[in-house]
Amino acid sequence: MTSKAIPLPDLAGFTERNGTWYAEEIPLSDLAKEFGTPLYVYSKKVLTEAYRAYDKACVDSSGKRRARVHYAMKANSNLAVIDCFKKLGSGFDLVSGGELARALAIGADPKSLVFAGVGKSAHEIAQALKAGVKCINVESIAELHQINRVATNLNCRAPISLRVNPDVDAQTHPYISTGLKGNKFGIAYHEVLKTYREAALLSQIDVVGIDCHIGSQITNTAPYLDALDKVLELVTQLKKEGIEIHHLDLGGGLGISYGDDNPPDITEFTNTLLNRVAERGFGHLDIVLEPGRSLVGNAGVLLTQVEYLKPGAEKNFCIVDAAMTELMRPALYEAYHGIVPIQTKQITSSTYDVVGPVCESGDWLGRDRQLAVEEGDLLAILSAGAYGFVMASNYNTRPKPAEIMVDGKNAYVIRARENIADLFSSETTLPD
Ligand SMILES: *Cc1c(COP(=O)(O)O)cnc(C)c1O
Repeated sequence: MTSKAIPLPDLAGFTERNGTWYAEEIPLSDLAKEFGTPLYVYSKKVLTEAYRAYDKACVDSSGKRRARVHYAMKANSNLAVIDCFKKLGSGFDLVSGGELARALAIGADPKSLVFAGVGKSAHEIAQALKAGVKCINVESIAELHQINRVATNLNCRAPISLRVNPDVDAQTHPYISTGLKGNKFGIAYHEVLKTYREAALLSQIDVVGIDCHIGSQITNTAPYLDALDKVLELVTQLKKEGIEIHHLDLGGGLGISYGDDNPPDITEFTNTLLNRVAERGFGHLDIVLEPGRSLVGNAGVLLTQVEYLKPGAEKNFCIVDAAMTELMRPALYEAYHGIVPIQTKQITSSTYDVVGPVCESGDWLGRDRQLAVEEGDLLAILSAGAYGFVMASNYNTRPKPAEIMVDGKNAYVIRARENIADLFSSETTLPD
C-alpha cells in the first residue's frame, strides 16, 4: 500500500519552524509536556482571522452592513471559543437547550440567537421563548403547532422562520447533506407556501424570516446559489400573498481544506452569495450566515502520543493515546485529517494506520500514512477544531481530554481534563 501524498491544509496559527511545530508562539511539545495528551489545542489567531474574513464581506463598499454572522456553536461550543466570537461581534446558531444555556452563560444577547434543529422539545422551545431569542427555525408543521401551543401557555409571541428543504444536492458526504428531499431536515419545498399561510393564521406566531441550510463541508458555491434562488422565489410568492419576510438565513456549511479539498475562500464565497441577493433585488432583507466548521476547523489540532508501533503482515499500526472517543470524524465519515510528527526526526519512515486504543476496528484516525516516528513521539492531528471535542465520548470509560487556547505566547486551559473518578461518580449499584 502506498500512502497518498496529500498536502497540508493552510493552518496559519500552526507552523513548522526548523523541524518543530508551534501553536502561534508556543512549541506544541511544551504544551504536551505541561498538560499531557491527548490534548486539544486551539489558536485564537486563526479563529479571529476566520471571523474577520466573514465579517468584512458582510459590510459593502459603502460601509452598509448587509449580513450578520451567527456562529453555529455545535462545531465547537467551548465557552472560551464562543466568548471570543461574541467579543468579535458574532451572534449564534443553536441546536439544543444545552447550547442555548451556553450562549446565555457567556452573556450573549438573546436577540443574536437563532434556534434550529429538527426535534426541539416543548421544554427547549419554552426555554428559547423565555430567553427571547431572535428566531426559532421551524422544521415541520407539527413543530409549528407545538411552538404555538407553548407560546400560548407562556402568553408570549413566537418569532419564527421556516426552514426550507430546497432539494439541492450539496455534493458532500451523505451524513452531512441536509438539503435533499430524502433528508430529515426542513419543510419540503412544495409545502413551504402552504405552511407559511398556516403559520400566519396561528394566534401566537410572528413570521419573521426564511431559512435554509443544505449541508456541511461543501466545497462548491453552485449548490448554495441554487438553494438561494429557490428560496428567493418563495420570498417573492409570499410577498404577493401579503406575508412579509424580514430576514433570510442562508445557513452554514462552507467547507475547509483538510488536505486536498479546495473550498472557495471565505470572502469570495460570502461576496458571491450576498451579491446575488442584491442583484435579485433583495438587498433590503437582513441576511444571516451560520458558519461553524469554516470558523474553527483549522483553528485546532489534537495532540497525541505514540504508545506502540506494531508491525504486521498486511498493515503496520501506529497505536496512539487518542482515539475515536476524542475525534470521531474518521470513524463516522471516513474523514481525512492530516497527521504530522510535531518534531521532525532523521529516521526512516514507514506506512502506518494510526489507530487508538478503543475496542472497535472502526477506531482509526488515519490510514496508510507515511510517518517517521518512534514510540513516545508526539503527533498532531490537524484540522480538529470543528466537530472534534464536541463529539467526544467517554466510551471505554475514557476521560475527555483537556482543551487549551493559545493566544500568542500564552496558553490557557479552557477545559480541564476529566478525571476517571468523575466518570462514574453519579452511578450507583443496587442494594444487596
Ligand atoms: C451544523 C449547522 C450549521 C453549521 O454547519 P457548518 O458545516 O459547521 O458550517 C449551520 N446551521 C445549521 C442549522 C446547522 O445545523
